[in-house]
Amino acid sequence: MTFHAKFSGYADPALHAAGLYIGGKWQSGSGITVLDPSTGNLLAEVADAAIEDAQRAVDAADAAAARWRATPARQRSEILRRWYQLLTQHAEELATLIALENGKALADARGEVAYAAEFFRWYAEEATRISGEFRHTPSGSHNILVDHEPIGIAILITPWNFPAAMAARKIGPALAAGCTVILKPASETPLTAYAMARLGEEAGVPPGVVNVLTTSNPGGITNAMLADPRVRKLSFTGSTGVGRLLLAEAAKSVVSCSMELGGNAPFIVFDDADLEAALDGAMIAKMRNAGEACTAANRFYVQAGIHDAFVAGLTARMKSLKIGPGYDPETQCGPMITQNAVRKIDRLVSEALAAGARATTGGKPLTENGYFYPPTVLENVPVNASIAREEIFGPVAPVYKFESDDEAIRLANNTEYGLAAYIYSRDLKRAMKVGKRIETGMLGINRGLMSDPAAPFGGVKQSGLGREGGVTGILEFMEPKYYAVDY
Ligand code: NAP
Repeated sequence: MTFHAKFSGYADPALHAAGLYIGGKWQSGSGITVLDPSTGNLLAEVADAAIEDAQRAVDAADAAAARWRATPARQRSEILRRWYQLLTQHAEELATLIALENGKALADARGEVAYAAEFFRWYAEEATRISGEFRHTPSGSHNILVDHEPIGIAILITPWNFPAAMAARKIGPALAAGCTVILKPASETPLTAYAMARLGEEAGVPPGVVNVLTTSNPGGITNAMLADPRVRKLSFTGSTGVGRLLLAEAAKSVVSCSMELGGNAPFIVFDDADLEAALDGAMIAKMRNAGEACTAANRFYVQAGIHDAFVAGLTARMKSLKIGPGYDPETQCGPMITQNAVRKIDRLVSEALAAGARATTGGKPLTENGYFYPPTVLENVPVNASIAREEIFGPVAPVYKFESDDEAIRLANNTEYGLAAYIYSRDLKRAMKVGKRIETGMLGINRGLMSDPAAPFGGVKQSGLGREGGVTGILEFMEPKYYAVDY
């Protein structure tokens, strides 16, 4: 791997890994360029795995599998615990690395490292608590004993928007369950994944238990691995479009799939909400990662009585944010991941403006170097605009006015997605009643942030299948085995 001179000044050289990581060996290479989204300049170049590399990774994961599943849970737990400690110890370098390759503000990057580390700590604890079941059959004919076994080799595919946390959210439970894995990080942000693998090595993860591949041919290498009968699990986080393709591919060999896909979160503010609390929550739900989050509030539905005050307050807060490179400690809103991302946001905003919306701040891409879009608030947005249907994935808050609870529920559910939703109201009974009717996997009530390693994260409808984190997250990497026992 080669590094742009600027890069070495920011991160601990001990974290500079050297390319593909297969069977505990680092294989240097080139072919995938990593850009600094705040300038568009080259940051680093990493190896580009071919199909043969993917096959070697499956071989390595297979060679390590029997020993890893037989490793006592306590020992697996202690390795994960050490990995948690190392991530915590290297938090600042990792946060800088994330801010560099992803562009997010340092405060967000620090938050992400802490969140990622917590998945290792949580699953270090869960590794020793895997339970089984014992029951009598209703007829009394025999006993039912249920064991949970590691499912087998798992492919983990992660997006660029949380390069550390999405990897940890999959590796933690997979290793705790006793599975060996092949991680394929996003091409825009491979450095964080490699740095984490380096720390995993230091934590004592045996060779072959975690393998990492970057590639310019994600479809080709994933399809090749899915066709290998030794691979039994695909855990994917990314867009709904790619998720659909992968589900179809996995169907060919009936591989178990967990899918964490796109979102289109409604953020509902009722007249009786605490305005300041709703604005604080809105800023977190919208601006964490500059809007590049699957749980990001994508549609603000605000009741008529509080609408104008909410728009004014949100506009003032959005206007005051400092824009700049993520690694500048003053920055509150970093660049978008690519120029294409800026183009998409520009298209959605321009269409909304043409349809009658009004920008109270922002509304046009910035023209300087790098992939910047300013914090933007839109009011008077038609409810059927494309910005209400598509993931914005940027710092744009479209606000829609509503009158009744039923109308808010109907608008909130008018989407193919169902990942996250937010409700602000001082009346908890009302919030719970409305919440029950919202089609979503996760609901924040008077909170703008819901992610927590101890909670089940995931969506309904086309936002995904399965849950990550929490007590059940480990079961995504296990198969129940039923023993019919007579004695
Ligand atoms: P993406 O384009 O779907 O890519 C995600 C990952 O899939 C990347 O590693 C990508 O590799 C890989 N990939 C692309 N095409 C593939 C193929 N044909 N076969 C196998 N792998 C393939 O998504 P993204 O733009 O990185 O991430 C943003 C999306 O992720 C948003 O929709 C967001 O909502 C969603 N997301 C969901 C969650 C959740 O928990 N529900 C969390 C975070 C993000 P390359 O980078 O090499 O193309």
